[in-house]
Amino acid sequence: MPIATVNPANGETLETYEALSPDALEEKLALAARTFAAYRTTVFEERARMMRHAADLLDADTPEIARTMTLEMGKPIKAARAEAAKCARTMRWYADHAQELLAPERPAESDVKDSGAARAEVRYRPLGPVLAVMPWNFPLWQVVRFAAPALMAGNVGLLKHASNVPQTALYLEDLFLRAGFPEGCFQTLLIGSGAVEGVLRDERVVAATLTGSEPAGRSVASVAGDEVKKTVLELGGSDPYVVMPSADVAKAAKTAVTARTQNNGQSCIAAKRFIVHEDVFEEFREAFVEGMRALKVGDPLDEETDIGPLASEQGRKDLEELVDEAVESGATVLCGGRRPKDFDRHGWFYEPTVLADITPEMRIHREETFGPVATLYRVTGLDAAIELANDTPFGLSSNLWTGDAEEIERFARDSQAGGVFVNGMTASHPALPFGGNKRSGYGRELSGHGIKEFCDITTVWIG
Ligand code: NDP
Repeated sequence: MPIATVNPANGETLETYEALSPDALEEKLALAARTFAAYRTTVFEERARMMRHAADLLDADTPEIARTMTLEMGKPIKAARAEAAKCARTMRWYADHAQELLAPERPAESDVKDSGAARAEVRYRPLGPVLAVMPWNFPLWQVVRFAAPALMAGNVGLLKHASNVPQTALYLEDLFLRAGFPEGCFQTLLIGSGAVEGVLRDERVVAATLTGSEPAGRSVASVAGDEVKKTVLELGGSDPYVVMPSADVAKAAKTAVTARTQNNGQSCIAAKRFIVHEDVFEEFREAFVEGMRALKVGDPLDEETDIGPLASEQGRKDLEELVDEAVESGATVLCGGRRPKDFDRHGWFYEPTVLADITPEMRIHREETFGPVATLYRVTGLDAAIELANDTPFGLSSNLWTGDAEEIERFARDSQAGGVFVNGMTASHPALPFGGNKRSGYGRELSGHGIKEFCDITTVWIG
């Protein structure tokens, strides 16, 4: 894939970039290693001051960087601004909390004595230069949720961003530099995915995090495994959204529209499979389809737009194939199911779509739909709903709508996903761990769990 900004709303190439030469890449890796040797000893107050400054700069830059994101990958401009604001909030959250999250832990006095020590504690020390392989769908957020905790912990970051968001990638390096982080603390590597293996095998790079597709995750994890380096993987999802009779069905249907179509439907934690109890199925279906039909598809730079184009031509092709195969195999199209008709735009648009009568043989039943396409299922009770919710290779998050406390407990016990959200849609928050099970990956981002992923858990025993 060329490293280029191509506007998905019209297919126009706006900027192309040369990949780093081997020499330039070597310089960046050497700088990361040198910088880490000094940066690792900085104190939390200093890191926090720079992180807060980065948040302030990001707030000031929001109109400009939001426009860049929209031009690079097509998200509606209002969502781009919200993404920037969330990044700034998360930077401040880690600036405020990193020290307390990574405070040394002391075992009980009796256990210290039992180990033969006069004193013993667990310390969280930074690991070193960490490679972050990141996707285009939330081009600021995916990076910041890695970078804020990693830098606050004393690590340094090397970003290999998706090839279609190079301007956002370069902006991030510049942002951390302007905030006062030493040169080499956070660097963007303009390289194609073929160069990732070499970087990961370099002995100066100590660990990697990847957000993206399963094949990319498998590739990075196998190289890292071969090198005995730690990885965190945040891969795809096909989150279930279960609606039970005691739920506020109107609210569930309204939220379902947002949960499915946020970011033009290209979110790993978007609800994708809507599993509805038969007693409220018709009511939910009607409101949900009406809500999906009402969305405004159009220019993502327009403030009124709800759904912009998909980020790439290939992404739309993949989505179309999933829908077309399902329809040929008997799925019913309740709305959408095609590119917008009579549309004067040449970008990679797709209509908000709801499909019913899905069978397990259809690819769409098991694969991730990365676009504004929902599948709708009817079930007879919670047991059937949980069985269907778990009938997926993924395990990122899950949603339940109910007024019944016992149903909440059963779902929280039995959902195989890394997140269980009840009476609301899945969303990430800096204080709550984020990540999945099964083919959705492993490890956690955000919260204390996220910041510790790239720390050395060091036992200090003093006799
Ligand atoms: P990819 O997984 O291909 O891209 C994500 C990142 O991984 C990019 O930086 C990419 O670089 C890099 N990459 C790709 N292949 C490799 C590899 N073999 N070794 C190392 N790095 C690699 O996502 P796509 O953009 O192709 O999207 C395909 C599907 O992935 C989507 O339809 C969706 O299902 C899933 N996806 C999930 C995301 C999530 O948030 N969990 C985000 C994006 C996609 P480059 O751009 O240079 O290829």
